[in-house]
Amino acid sequence: MTVSHILGYPRIGAQRELKKATEAYWAGEQSREALETQGKTLRQAHWQAQFDAGLDYVSVGDFAFYDQVLNVSVLLGAVPERFNASDEIARGDIDLDTAFRMARGRAPSGEPAAACEMTKYFDTNYHYLVPELHQGQRFALACERLFEEVDEAQETGFAPKVTLTGPLTWLWLGKTKGNSFDRLTLLEGVLDVYVEVLNRLAKQNIEWVQLDEPALVQDLPLAWQQAYERAYHRLQAAPVKLMVASYFGGLGDNLSVATRLPVAGLHVDAVRAPEQLELVIDRLSPHQVLSIGMIDGRNVWRSDLAVLRERLMPLKVRLGNRLWLAPSCSLLHVPVDLEAETELDEELKSWLAFARQKLNEVVTLTRLLDHRATAEDETRLAVATQALDARRASARIHRGVVKERLARLSPADSQRTSPYAKRAVAQRRELALPPFPTTTIGSFPQTNAIRATRRAYKNAELDVDTYETKMREEIAYAVARQEALDIDVLVHGEAERNDMVEYFGEQLDGFAFTRFGWVQSYGSRCVKPPIIVGDVSRPTPMTVRWSEYAQSLTDKPMKGMLTGPVTILQWSFVRDDQPRETTCKQIALALRDEVADLEGAGISVIQVDEPALREGLPLRQSQWQAYLNWAVESFQLSVAGVEDATQIHTHMCYSEFNDIIGAIAALDADVITIETSRSDMELLEAFQDFAYPNEIGPGVYDIHTPNTPDVAWMVTLMEKALEKIPAERLWVNPDCGLKTRRWEEVEPALANMVAAAKALRKRY
Ligand code: GLN
Ligand code: ZN
Repeated sequence: MTVSHILGYPRIGAQRELKKATEAYWAGEQSREALETQGKTLRQAHWQAQFDAGLDYVSVGDFAFYDQVLNVSVLLGAVPERFNASDEIARGDIDLDTAFRMARGRAPSGEPAAACEMTKYFDTNYHYLVPELHQGQRFALACERLFEEVDEAQETGFAPKVTLTGPLTWLWLGKTKGNSFDRLTLLEGVLDVYVEVLNRLAKQNIEWVQLDEPALVQDLPLAWQQAYERAYHRLQAAPVKLMVASYFGGLGDNLSVATRLPVAGLHVDAVRAPEQLELVIDRLSPHQVLSIGMIDGRNVWRSDLAVLRERLMPLKVRLGNRLWLAPSCSLLHVPVDLEAETELDEELKSWLAFARQKLNEVVTLTRLLDHRATAEDETRLAVATQALDARRASARIHRGVVKERLARLSPADSQRTSPYAKRAVAQRRELALPPFPTTTIGSFPQTNAIRATRRAYKNAELDVDTYETKMREEIAYAVARQEALDIDVLVHGEAERNDMVEYFGEQLDGFAFTRFGWVQSYGSRCVKPPIIVGDVSRPTPMTVRWSEYAQSLTDKPMKGMLTGPVTILQWSFVRDDQPRETTCKQIALALRDEVADLEGAGISVIQVDEPALREGLPLRQSQWQAYLNWAVESFQLSVAGVEDATQIHTHMCYSEFNDIIGAIAALDADVITIETSRSDMELLEAFQDFAYPNEIGPGVYDIHTPNTPDVAWMVTLMEKALEKIPAERLWVNPDCGLKTRRWEEVEPALANMVAAAKALRKRY
């Protein structure tokens, strides 16, 4: 029979119980014991859900109070020295607070220390804690939690399959500290502990251990490919069956590496890379099982069970009992339970499946394949088919005008009329800015008063007029402050925006919002991404009245502020019935209308933020260019309709631009503001090397700290910038939006920034 399983379940809880429990614990409002109890309750509930759905195994090892990669670091005793954990490591019992200190810098007990770096897990919005690797580092089994959780599951009568980040992916995700060295030199030490872990699990009668190796879907250097073979030869000695799990893409040139591993099973992602299935099966040895990830673990759409069954039938014939079915990756990346969405309309709801619903999909698909479908399975199959037919035909999804407009586009639509050099002349005339013009990135402090006003309006405790009046007061305040500071290009401050994507999604047609569709972003932080359901269009202007009002308060140019199409796409659940490119261009066209209306309302500087441009990059370099082409085109589509004299800004805040500098230049924004202050302007080298032709505002101070930046320091940074970029193309601005800061911090910081700009004007 076909085996059904999952790679992991969301741990945050349907009501974000884990968030509440950990935050209460950190704040000293809840005991350690209460936190542990909450953890246990959640694990039991999640196993119960998997058991009730009829899965053959429940997943153990996917639970974490903070992060599953951090769990492995703790398991291996890989705790940086500054956390003073050598006694705990020696005892083999690293304290939970030590893990929290690694994650957050502090915990209810133990000395605070600088937290470990956090970064995005492959191409997801989930952030993991980066393992810190030292030359000659030693590893030792240093935590019992995993084994305790196995006991816990078994005591309740569940059949656990253990899941753990694999040794090579753990090293791959790690960063070397101190002298740079080859991370693979640490592999043997890491494997020693993995072998010990596997032996311990075998003693607990664990049959299957899933080792997550998503590094296998990336471009791996030859030495790493070879290390895979070496590593798994060592691990096979342990008396458990290993399943190596690849996901987030195809194995590509790692296909033979993966299929030749001496392991009992392999999991592949058939959602992102359906074409690889036959190739993998051809290469599998006759005793190996293949787990096929057929249900999308990265998105919220209901599966077409009938279609999947057809696709799987011939594979079932070839694999027989060696076939396992699963979601494509851990369900960590989707919301927990659709049933909680009592206010979502029935039609939309019928098109969706969250983690709990996906459990049922896996099980039903398994039974359909095995010809042992129950009446309930038959109903699920019929309901899925019906819902998907309805979705395909729905007028809510398909808007002729949007599709026709997209079809009519010509290359000219994504090009400004004149080249930058000519536009710059028109813009100088129009804006009459001093050299080294000063501006900010958009948001000003989101005070408690602002949040309270927005909340009251959302809860219908404030009527529109009162709300709008209050927001205008906030805008007027921000404008007055900027005038007093003598900033050159002003912003309205974004007081009305809850979130830079949600704000636009709520006003665009084609978007839907859930109430409880939370997905873990990092630690206790969750995000609730909008769902792009159908063709996107803009029924009415979204930001124009605010910008127009703000402009009416000042003679200085007021910058209009929009979130770019790629960022809106990247931070949403995207429809799966057309290419992402198409959806992105639809968003771009909606924004293009907004840009045109802003321009028509007399706004002569418009910023379109694209902080997520870089994170949209595919995991394989060979696919980068195709992505960048449509991403750049989408940005351009949104802005290219304006006159020469209208100045287009964009903003990005990731420090690694070097490898996409060509695409950044291709955006052809008149001005780009970027995060550089922490990298000491080094970033600008890439712009210089590329001979980046347009204007740049390298962030002169780091908004992430409350400290007031020094005038002389900012002048020095700009002087470094001047070595690389000519004065007439440099702007002076902070490195990101100021919404997380307080006015008491912002005002002195900006006063110094303006002083720095004025000092530069005297000298250059
Ligand atoms: N305009 C946005 C702000 O200032 C940009 C946010 C961002 O870069 N992520 O808040
Ligand atoms: Zn930013």
